Amino acid sequence: MASAVVGLDDPIERLAGAGPVTAARLAGRGLFQVRDLLTFFPRAYDDYRRVYAMAELAGLPAGTPVVVRGTVVRVHKFFRRLLDVTIEDGGIRLRARWFRPNAGMVKTYTRGAQVALAGSLRRTEEGEPELIHPSNVTALLAESAGAGIRPRYPKIEKVPGRTVEKVVGAALAVASRQAAEILPATVRERLGLPGIAAALAMVHRPPAHLPDVEIATLFAGASPAQRRFAFEELFVLQVALAVERARVRTEKGFPCGAEVARTLGEVQAVLPFALTLAQQRSARRICEAMAGEAPMQCLLQGDVGSGKTAVAFAACVAIARAGGQTLFMAPTAVLAEQHHRTLGAWAANSGLRIGLLHSGLPAAEQRRVLAAAAVGGLDLIVGTHALLEDRLRLACLGLAIVDEQHRFGVRQRARLRRLGGGENGWQIGAPGGMVPHLLVLSATPIPRTLALTLYGDLELVTLDASPPGRKPVRTRVCRGVAAREAAYQALRQSLASGGQGFVICPAVAEDQGRPATSAVALGRSLRANLAPARIGVLHGQLAFARQREVADAFRTGALDVLVATTIVEVGVDVPSARVMVVEDAERFGLAQLHQLRGRVGRDEEQASCYLLTSSEDAEALARLDMLATVADGFRIAEEDLRRRGSGDVHGTRQAGQPELRFADLSVYLGMIETARQEAEAVLGVDPGLVLPAHAELARAVGERMARARPVAEEAG
Ligand code: ADP
Ligand code: MG
Repeated sequence: MASAVVGLDDPIERLAGAGPVTAARLAGRGLFQVRDLLTFFPRAYDDYRRVYAMAELAGLPAGTPVVVRGTVVRVHKFFRRLLDVTIEDGGIRLRARWFRPNAGMVKTYTRGAQVALAGSLRRTEEGEPELIHPSNVTALLAESAGAGIRPRYPKIEKVPGRTVEKVVGAALAVASRQAAEILPATVRERLGLPGIAAALAMVHRPPAHLPDVEIATLFAGASPAQRRFAFEELFVLQVALAVERARVRTEKGFPCGAEVARTLGEVQAVLPFALTLAQQRSARRICEAMAGEAPMQCLLQGDVGSGKTAVAFAACVAIARAGGQTLFMAPTAVLAEQHHRTLGAWAANSGLRIGLLHSGLPAAEQRRVLAAAAVGGLDLIVGTHALLEDRLRLACLGLAIVDEQHRFGVRQRARLRRLGGGENGWQIGAPGGMVPHLLVLSATPIPRTLALTLYGDLELVTLDASPPGRKPVRTRVCRGVAAREAAYQALRQSLASGGQGFVICPAVAEDQGRPATSAVALGRSLRANLAPARIGVLHGQLAFARQREVADAFRTGALDVLVATTIVEVGVDVPSARVMVVEDAERFGLAQLHQLRGRVGRDEEQASCYLLTSSEDAEALARLDMLATVADGFRIAEEDLRRRGSGDVHGTRQAGQPELRFADLSVYLGMIETARQEAEAVLGVDPGLVLPAHAELARAVGERMARARPVAEEAG
């Protein structure tokens, strides 16, 4: 065994220092192969280059990494529980303490021995310096002047930090000969990024002799080596997206004539309002894109309330006039019903036949819609992911529209993605292997740079203005009992003058493990508190018939207050609702709160949103304050991203693997554009990635394309 060369694809167990038990524990952290260890990056570093004199310790802040030398003057052990060792130098003493020491450790420390210890300085309650679980660097110091810079890896349960260091070191020894270079040399040179082997060595084993400025950038996570890994990830992603764009360009889209002006005129004639210039511009771009040879793949993004539905309707009309059908998908049945109502009125006036399909409808009704769709008896089919089921047959699908895409589940999104690929299992009746156009609507405003990352294979169309006369929702952060009472008082007043209101809760029902205001409990108490107001409770765990009943009752004014979860984040459009109270507001993402408050203020009246919180956390309060002062959804999304990193763009919960492992977008946002340019440069030279210099890149891109995208599950 020992003679065989260990490879990057080998199990970790084959490395020196990793037995089966350790390997199993590493596997629990997602580390299986030798290569996985290479990108298991330190989360921080400790600078042990300097040996401190005991006398200096008193002046150092707690948390400073220190190395000290001394003579052991006292050893105190409590069998298997605690080991206290006091060392002394120049008449000053320092206590080191280990919990659950092993026998080997206990043996190391005997009175009179000279030792060197490295650890983070702590202070006892009396203010005395002490070390907890320091490393013994006696031997290290004997060899060199200091204990160097030590990586601090993320904690792995039951695997000591030293063991992690050791196996990563062993992996590094393998990698220095084998690690594949994904970044083409030309790109690296242009951007001044180190090669893979040097970058790995720098990140895992930073040399002690680095100049101070380089140490500082390394510790800040911004060294060329660290930037390299972030860039590599963004670059591979951008190449994958560019390849996908190129692939789509070779497909044939549903032929849709270029009479854009006529379509817009027709649409305008049936709408109860005048399209804004921004809506006209967006609709024109989308229709023009559908008139091209290749299928359109477009992301229409616009702030909540900006009027995306009307723009999407224009696309439906264009397709219908060309003889095609449109699928209009919404993430919840409540929203699908609402779209069916809105679009239904417009469709009726323009002679479009519209159907509704979701699993909450009676079976006979569903069968009727399916049958009509299959023979081309419907131009527009509105529904939920029920539309993605195989039983749906379409005479001639020309366009698929996905509303609030981020709210779809993992599998549905994968399915949606494949839409353009023609392998979707739908029976598409159009001739010639053509591919339907895809229009994705996003009301969670995504910063442009991030959109390039998440949806880089889509063309971006931005609806950059809202219908005229809208006033920003007046937003207040309410902390404490009095402020809370004032918020509910404002709600009472609005109700008294004939208005309606929302109360949003983070949870559906009581949950012992996670104390949060629940919709069910709050609904109960508000019935008494807000009497005589009529109160309804809406959340995703109710049967659909009940959801519809409640939503309808609220819409028609039979209910005054809707106590709901984020299910109303999308799709309850009730113009006379002007007050929203959000309980435990700090539990929601900024972008999500912005979207939620978009449920009020959907006409020209002034609306208000009260963000209740009992949080003491300065950071959380600052986030909420920002919402109170900024009305622009794009700025909020940028801010949200900056504060929280990219892991959580779409709301509070995020299922699945993180999209990006290294490139924390709150730090590397500016790098995306560069990655995109470099990706295009490489593909310009070698569109098929067939050159030997691009072999590793081609492999990485293939892997990337096979990986799922991030998604938020359907909200409760
Ligand atoms: P979103 O972009 O959030 O999906 P909607 O399409 O639901 O927005 O539109 C929000 C509200 O604004 C709806 O009540 C819609 O009827 C109305 N609306 C849309 N466009 C206009 C317009 N040009 N003028 C006036 N009201 C409009
Ligand atoms: Mg919408």
